Amino acid sequence: MSYTKRDDGRKFDELRKIKAKVGVVKRADGSAMFQMGDTIAIASVYGPRELHPRFLQNPERGVLRCNYDMASFSVTERKKPGPSRRSTEISLVTEKALASVIDLDLFPNTVIDVFIEIIQANAGTRCAGISAAAMALAHAGIPMRDMVAAVSVGKVGDKIVLDLDKEEEDFEEGATDIPVAMTARKREITLLQLDGEVTKDELMEAIKMARKGCEEIYKIQVKTLKEIYKNG
Ligand code: UDP
Repeated sequence: MSYTKRDDGRKFDELRKIKAKVGVVKRADGSAMFQMGDTIAIASVYGPRELHPRFLQNPERGVLRCNYDMASFSVTERKKPGPSRRSTEISLVTEKALASVIDLDLFPNTVIDVFIEIIQANAGTRCAGISAAAMALAHAGIPMRDMVAAVSVGKVGDKIVLDLDKEEEDFEEGATDIPVAMTARKREITLLQLDGEVTKDELMEAIKMARKGCEEIYKIQVKTLKEIYKNG
């Protein structure tokens, strides 16, 4: 089925409006808010700190531990609070999306905890969470080899589109959702999931579009992080 126009008037390769801020959770060692359209993620980082229980410690390197949670009030139909299969999966892929840019060898026996809370959800929450977490890690002063930005791309009807909203994810003919995370300088893909169907050519087009989106997000992440130094 042909998809001719996005409901919110965006071009097919256009991101939703982004807002970002660091230092939103004072008690944390680093924190950030990242909003794409109506999806809002807050990430807070604690550590590196000694890992308990001690048998989980690795004397060679630190452990990155991510915890993704969607608040019960974040969606129209109240979500049952607490962990679920979905949140466990997202926590795990978030960890994998971020771990490769952190120099964990510098922090033996410790853990770096990243808590991601989705306070408002309108699709793309795992990507907003990853973009927020990468900013929070940088804000916490964790040495990072690269920055990570994430965005969802996919196929709605017959079109490849960037940054799907919930309406597009629920498109009547079915949509394909492809969350992508990418490192900024090396342009390495650290997350790629695919829910639906696409041809190989469509997937390549989608990844190209995601790369462009991630580059835009990266610029916002850096600009936001630099602002704290400007403002003291
Ligand atoms: N969603 C919901 N209730 C849930 C889980 C998800 O309403 O229990 C909505 C929410 O808007 C979310 C979207 O469905 O952003 C898509 O969820 P998905 O699992 O595809 O992950 P996401 O796109 O948020 O990374």
